Amino acid sequence: MKVSLFTPGRFDVPLRMLSELPEGLLDCRAEELLAVLGGPTLIHLSAARESSLFVSVLLHGNETSGWDGLRRYLADQPELSRGMTIFIGNVAAASQGLRVLPDQPDFNRIWNGATGAGGALAQAVRSAIADRSLFAAVDLHNNTGHNPYYAVVTDLQPENLGLAYLFSDKAVYVREPDTVLTREFARRCPAITLEVGPVGDARCEQRVYDYLNRAMELDAVPTATPAEFNLFRALGRVHVRRGIDFSFADDELDTPLVLTGGVEAINFHELAAGSRFGTTTLGIDAVLNVLDVDHRDVTAEFFEIDGDEILLKRSVVPAMYTTDPYVVRQDCLCYFMDRMDAESG
Ligand SMILES: [Zn+2]
Repeated sequence: MKVSLFTPGRFDVPLRMLSELPEGLLDCRAEELLAVLGGPTLIHLSAARESSLFVSVLLHGNETSGWDGLRRYLADQPELSRGMTIFIGNVAAASQGLRVLPDQPDFNRIWNGATGAGGALAQAVRSAIADRSLFAAVDLHNNTGHNPYYAVVTDLQPENLGLAYLFSDKAVYVREPDTVLTREFARRCPAITLEVGPVGDARCEQRVYDYLNRAMELDAVPTATPAEFNLFRALGRVHVRRGIDFSFADDELDTPLVLTGGVEAINFHELAAGSRFGTTTLGIDAVLNVLDVDHRDVTAEFFEIDGDEILLKRSVVPAMYTTDPYVVRQDCLCYFMDRMDAESG
């Protein structure tokens, strides 16, 4: 059946709903989805096993590996082994290769208490799946910087960890922001976010493909314990203060904040207390800002100044440290984590 979905003038509809794949959809690159779908879309594909795997892609429009891995997986399946409910998120931003358009909310920050267009979209998805039996939920993202690939869990339930372990032996436990899709879904079914690696790396798409293949064949969601993982806990997000000019050591520029380049290479490796993080001609509070999981300013717990050097006051494990100035401005410079032992929670 041919479906014409793009109805000009219907941009006010928060969510389009389909029960089959529109013809040719799997041939579309992420940039082309807006023209076919017209907006955020939920597609429910039925199978003998009804309880469906919820797969979300393109909540961030420029993170295309999820869609590319998913469409290749679907193209290879003459018949699905269980139902799949697909949420294709920010196709408008995807059409321009952007994470989010300037007038839009971040689609992965709308899942708790959002108002306006973002709240309406989240509510529409919630209503659409209210009566569905969900096997598990997997939200697919690319990340920035050189990181190992890893899963993100919003709580440490054995099933969430089991889903994560299918992907990697590394996982990050994140309590903030509390507006992400995975947190919303974790109340209903085992749910994780996968950070599959940087956009443009072909291995990312393959990881998605392999993961979906594994997850769709499961009879039951496996369980795992923290002891089986390299499990990290997010302590805070490191931001460069708004309006502060910054550069990285390799740039050899004379800015008020110079960040030690090369830290990108040690994402997920511990930096000892006393490690040099950068230099500044201004005070630490003028250039950097660390917010903990409760949005408190905890900069002083992590950094101290020695002359013009910014040093780490305690040991941390950085993640998603990026040298992309756009990401630093739009999101953050990096996360600080620590390693969780088996007992802590
Ligand atoms: Zn993302």
